[in-house]
Amino acid sequence: MSFKHHLTLHPGSTKLPIRDSTADHSHPTTLPLAKETKIKPTGVDGADNASLYFVGTATTILEYEGIRLLSDPNFIHAGDHVHLGPGVTGTRMTNPAVDLEELPRIDAVLLSHYHADHFDEKVESSLRRDLPIVTTPHAKHHLHENKSDDEKFTDVYDLDFFESCLVSVPPEKSGAASNSETSKIPAIKVTGMPGKHVPDGALSVANDLLAAVPPTNGWMVELGYKPDVSAPDSAFTNGYRIYISGDTLMVDDLKEIPKRYADQKIDLMLVHLGGTTIPSPKLPLLMVTMDAKQGVQLMQMINPEVTIPIHYDDYDVFLSPLSDFKKAINDAGWQDKVVYLERGDQYRFSVGT
Ligand SMILES: [Zn+2]
Repeated sequence: MSFKHHLTLHPGSTKLPIRDSTADHSHPTTLPLAKETKIKPTGVDGADNASLYFVGTATTILEYEGIRLLSDPNFIHAGDHVHLGPGVTGTRMTNPAVDLEELPRIDAVLLSHYHADHFDEKVESSLRRDLPIVTTPHAKHHLHENKSDDEKFTDVYDLDFFESCLVSVPPEKSGAASNSETSKIPAIKVTGMPGKHVPDGALSVANDLLAAVPPTNGWMVELGYKPDVSAPDSAFTNGYRIYISGDTLMVDDLKEIPKRYADQKIDLMLVHLGGTTIPSPKLPLLMVTMDAKQGVQLMQMINPEVTIPIHYDDYDVFLSPLSDFKKAINDAGWQDKVVYLERGDQYRFSVGT
């Protein structure tokens, strides 16, 4: 097991995710109270030690042993526009469940790709520059190399397909259980998964339209432990495996995932749906994210224990609503494999040891 990057987090810090701000006593230190808490539909809820809070679009906050990862931050509001590339814009139809300014401490950002419905202008100008970001090489270029010295993000880690990084917390700084030299250290292994945001053989479509679609990663996020503080990162063991599809279509590249994880259980899948079609709802030429049918095919291919659909109704360019997916799931008789979250809901689960 080798890692391209090693991230050490400091959840003991009270720094907020936004710039030019210091945490004060009036600022929340915990996540907002969930509207509704869901657990595995057929499972028993035990001593859950992890949760996923759904903000909207593909924005979630994963909390595990005191570590908080924010995915694909998108905090603009209903009516706001995003520029998705030359000639391609989208209008947001929903509001995030929480505002950027209301977020508590966040330890790192997981960004699937550099697209404005995943990292909007408000987020780009507001996030503090030393907040660690794990993302694609393409996005790193835009967030780090391509920016002036006072605007660049300084702690960006690029992962290509099947490259991994280990995120861990030094025990003295951990707000979590492990405070002694001998106890296990919570850690998260993040691996880039293949994704393709443009269909194969889309050569007939104008170059401009293709240029509007940046390269994207999916993620395998493995929540687990290192045996003790002196153990090498290679001693990491997984306790709960989450596959996040990213903005991808159902393409052959994805077949590599079940091959590589053949004997390893996928506990949870977050699938980006929506059937995003560009350049506009009035001119739907090119579908660039999965629709309901492809989402069901992906479930078949990955075979996760639980699937949670996200990225399904937040923009006017998302043409396949969640109701399509619900219908496809009901037709397949797979209701017990899916948990539906509304913005502001959380899913709680337990990471094995
Ligand atoms: Zn998207």
